Amino acid sequence: MLKIRTSSPRLQARTERPPSRIAIIGGGFTGALLAKLLVDRGLRDIEEVWVFEAREHLGCGLAYDGRDADVRLNVAAHRMRAIPGAPTAFLDWLHTSGTLTVDPQAVTPEGVFARRRDFGRFMQKQLAPHLDSGAIRHVRETVRALDREKDQWRITGANGASVLADVVILATGHPPASRPSAFDRLDPLTAARVTDVQTPHALSGISQTDSILIVGCGLTALDALSQLKGLGHAGKVTLLSRSGLLPRPHAGGGFSAFGDFRGPDLNSALKLLVKVRATISEAEANGIPWQSVFDALRLHAQELWQHLPVLERQKFLRRLRRWYDVHRYRMPPQAAAVLETGLETGRITLEQGDLTSIGRDGSDLVVKIRNSTGHSELRCSRILLATGPDFRDYAAHQRFLLAMHQKGLIQSDPHGLGLTCDTAGRALTVAGTPNSSLFVAGPPARPAFGELTGVPEIANQAATMVDRIIRSCARDTRTILISQTDPTAD
Ligand SMILES: Cc1cc2nc3c(=O)[nH]c(=O)nc-3n(C[C@H](O)[C@H](O)[C@H](O)COP(=O)(O)OP(=O)(O)OC[C@H]3O[C@@H](n4cnc5c(N)ncnc54)[C@H](O)[C@@H]3O)c2cc1C
Repeated sequence: MLKIRTSSPRLQARTERPPSRIAIIGGGFTGALLAKLLVDRGLRDIEEVWVFEAREHLGCGLAYDGRDADVRLNVAAHRMRAIPGAPTAFLDWLHTSGTLTVDPQAVTPEGVFARRRDFGRFMQKQLAPHLDSGAIRHVRETVRALDREKDQWRITGANGASVLADVVILATGHPPASRPSAFDRLDPLTAARVTDVQTPHALSGISQTDSILIVGCGLTALDALSQLKGLGHAGKVTLLSRSGLLPRPHAGGGFSAFGDFRGPDLNSALKLLVKVRATISEAEANGIPWQSVFDALRLHAQELWQHLPVLERQKFLRRLRRWYDVHRYRMPPQAAAVLETGLETGRITLEQGDLTSIGRDGSDLVVKIRNSTGHSELRCSRILLATGPDFRDYAAHQRFLLAMHQKGLIQSDPHGLGLTCDTAGRALTVAGTPNSSLFVAGPPARPAFGELTGVPEIANQAATMVDRIIRSCARDTRTILISQTDPTAD
């Protein structure tokens, strides 16, 4: 038997394995940024980065792919810290590319609120050099299967592409919108007048005088209002939601984040609520808007989430989440103006309640709503679904994910936030073991982070994940010390 001694090395050897190949499934903002960072930082150890994404351009995904000029970022450009290490890159690009000259309406007293498609263009510029050099390979196919093959993963696309990779990152982003059960039983003529606003051409065929019901009251619904205005729509619009809560506006004045939400003491939903309220009172006493308190809360949100025991997480999601969301996801000033004018003139109305059924009467759609005072009926010509993505049972929303779940490789998290993973983003098997060659990035990794929807949080996660992957792919160029064979060894 050979014994290894650490002293008196006799022989030095170098072992090297081939550079690794990384595959990313999904080329929205998350997948594209990961690909860029892997190439920027890992050139020596990573051979190629393959990104599977059916869309024409990488970096756009659901949020930034639109051709629509009327939908805007809900975050001011200086806060879109999209590129780790270059926090003002997007704002700088808006200036140098001439985008703000073409779109002067982006500049508001609350900051620069650019068009979402322009953020998509910015991301494309970031990726272009690596696509041109071949370091990033864009496979324009939807992944249909991901299988283990010896120590690697085989990724199979819908049109036959097949790639072997050492590490796979699931960056599959937002699932389709949740559909109230009343939408399940529609006859074809009614169904044709119901569209999910996040699908292409959702607003096509709407006439200027059509009366519209928008189901949902969040930022997606406000996008729809802005798009309708852009189309010259002048008919009635009703916004319906269970909570009746609308996203809040941004504050002007360039205030910094206010409040400190760090520390393990904030370990219950109630303590958190009490602390937020107290901090808002303190801020307001100092002439600082509540928005600054939520900015601080967001900065510490991941740490807070990680300190909350499971039951408190459930309480937060059940009781505080809607309230948190409307303060955290604020409306761009341009959308706020559309809403305000519409409410003032009576063209837009708000309804609170549950949509229970949809029928037809001549050319009208007839919608029944249950609310605290009983039932009401509403007539409209079109229904737009703006309920936002449904993350419940994430592992079941795509066939290849479901197949992986059935093999025990991934699992949906019980809170309905995405896929279970650890804080390094490693996917957890059904048995709870982290898999160091399978990662979850962006919104579906929220179970481990709580807050992981906005660009800055995703960018942070991507940077940390990339560094970890590069370390694990580092080719072993260490000098290996092979000691003298111990003559006494047997
Ligand atoms: C409408 C909207 C507006 C937003 N506005 C802002 C904002 O103003 N500021 C901000 O900070 N954040 C905003 N966000 C949040 C944030 O930017 C997004 O969460 C972020 O873009 C997530 O990107 P993603 O790539 O993870 O997901 P997605 O954008 O959903 O992209 C996922 C991509 O994966 C692809 N994909 C999925 N399954 C497969 C498969 N099987 N094979 C191949 N490809 C696959 C899809 O085609 C898609 O392109 C917004 C989000 C939305 C939805």
